[in-house]
Amino acid sequence: MNYFLCSVCGQKLTESEKGAVCPKGHSFDKAKSGYINLLPNNLPKGNHGDNKLMVKARHDFLEKGYYEPLRKELCRVIKKYAPEKAVILDAGCGEGFYTKGVFDYLEEAEMLALDISKDAMKITAKRDKRIKCAAASVFHLPVESESVDICYSVFSPLCESEFERVIKKNGYFIYVIPAENHLWSLKKAVYNEPYKNSVKPYEMENFSFVEKINVDGIMQMENENDVLNLFMMTPYYYKTSEEDTKKLMSSPPEEIEYSFEILVFRK
Ligand SMILES: [Zn+2]
Repeated sequence: MNYFLCSVCGQKLTESEKGAVCPKGHSFDKAKSGYINLLPNNLPKGNHGDNKLMVKARHDFLEKGYYEPLRKELCRVIKKYAPEKAVILDAGCGEGFYTKGVFDYLEEAEMLALDISKDAMKITAKRDKRIKCAAASVFHLPVESESVDICYSVFSPLCESEFERVIKKNGYFIYVIPAENHLWSLKKAVYNEPYKNSVKPYEMENFSFVEKINVDGIMQMENENDVLNLFMMTPYYYKTSEEDTKKLMSSPPEEIEYSFEILVFRK
């Protein structure tokens, strides 16, 4: 348990009967699925990440393998920069599709995975007991300073100052973002006037840019349920009227583009 910190006082946690405890006696429960709940008590309402339905949509979609090319490439890139017995942090891991892939690919790595959604952590924790899982906010990482070789984030909110704090000197931050054409056919099917993603060159203070890898392709959508699950994973879902959602489902696209950028930065 010495990889996580108390979310109240910041001291190291040790394993206890029910979960984890710090030297000051702050204790945290371990869920049956295996993650420790380190969410701060004062978390603002409505800020608990993906709900059960969203997590299920994401899980069902990802398990079909549509984003496997991204997972493969992410594994390759992480391995390229990881030292032996690396400590890797998946910050905002969701339901753990990438976490488990990276963990298996790296072999001897210590894998930490965090997400603010307890529903997501439930699935991640069940994927592999060896992955150290906690429900936590990326804005208050319960992780020791300069303890992580590689921190990565796939489409998740990020907190540069926290990431900078936990990454070791000369360690890496790897950031996966959607590129211009990502899900273009899906957007065309929903909106009368769709717009492309604007991708600005991303810069990080106190980090140097190392490289950018593009991952592009076309998904042959198996059925309309997969299209709906994909749609539910996007931010458009919440900005779209019921009418526009109906429009999408009346003629779901058979082919949808994916387009990602993997950005590598060194501290
Ligand atoms: Zn404490």
